[in-house]
Amino acid sequence: MSEQAYKGNQPSHAGDVATPKRTKEIIAKYGFSFKKSLGQNFLIDQNILNKIVAAAQLDASKAALEIGPGIGALTQRLAASAATVTAVEIDNRLIPILNDIFADNDHVSIVHGDVLKLDLQNLFKEKFSPDQKVSVVANLPYYVTTPILMKLLEERLPLEHIVVMIQKEVADRMAASPGGKEYGSLSVAVQYYCKPELVCIVPHSVFIPQPNVDSAVIKLTLRDKPAVDVPNEEHYFKVVQACFAQRRKTLANNLTAFVGKEKREELLTLLAELEIDPTRRGETLSLEEFARISRSFLERGW
Ligand code: SAM
Repeated sequence: MSEQAYKGNQPSHAGDVATPKRTKEIIAKYGFSFKKSLGQNFLIDQNILNKIVAAAQLDASKAALEIGPGIGALTQRLAASAATVTAVEIDNRLIPILNDIFADNDHVSIVHGDVLKLDLQNLFKEKFSPDQKVSVVANLPYYVTTPILMKLLEERLPLEHIVVMIQKEVADRMAASPGGKEYGSLSVAVQYYCKPELVCIVPHSVFIPQPNVDSAVIKLTLRDKPAVDVPNEEHYFKVVQACFAQRRKTLANNLTAFVGKEKREELLTLLAELEIDPTRRGETLSLEEFARISRSFLERGW
């Protein structure tokens, strides 16, 4: 994107969308009604937006992909910081509103679609140049937070950061270290691809309508290569799942269920060789220890 195309400091059509007054005006003007089933909780606080946008480290050379722009509270701020903004919104009632609000912002592109069904590789080809740094910045619909994030990560999209508002409980699980009750297969999956960082905890009062769960902003910085070296990712994640299958059970028991009862003795010997105590629980294992197990299982065809 050339410098000329950067329209970052142009005011958008609507003034600040993310204020209680302006949000209520827009909703009233278009006769919009919130759909709980789509996780529609709109941001009405500039402070939180400042924190989200600062964490995303955007500049005039970078692009932003937003998922679920709503009426554009965050979109507007991204438009002021990035070279281009592509915003994917599932609710067709919001498309004309967004098109109106961003009518004068050529560098903002509104895409109508379900992000979970969209061909994101294609979207990237269409919207971003190959050498452009792209970050996902979003206040995610809470009912599909994990599927959306896993899709972004598993598709290996060329992303720099993912900065998202999500349920606090999910953010805690993503950022958890081994040893605590929050650490599980989601922590391993996210940390395999990214370095997580909790940006801030967000009170209910910054949304219309207010959600009934606590929220947090999390920043995921994509790693150049995965945190651990494994020959077969699918197998690695199967082993991780198996270790957490029954959280109260020991590794010996969870992994016996994975390899088969008849191989229990062989399994115990192998864990001893790997210097992993079979009485430990999955929640104490590091990403590297899961990798060690996966590698040696593969060598045995398990
Ligand atoms: N970004 C706005 C804000 O911060 O005020 C709205 C955030 S609201 C929590 C989530 C938005 O995601 C809603 O606009 C909703 O319609 C949209 N959404 C829900 N499911 C979606 C999906 N599968 N694909 C794309 N957008 C979706």
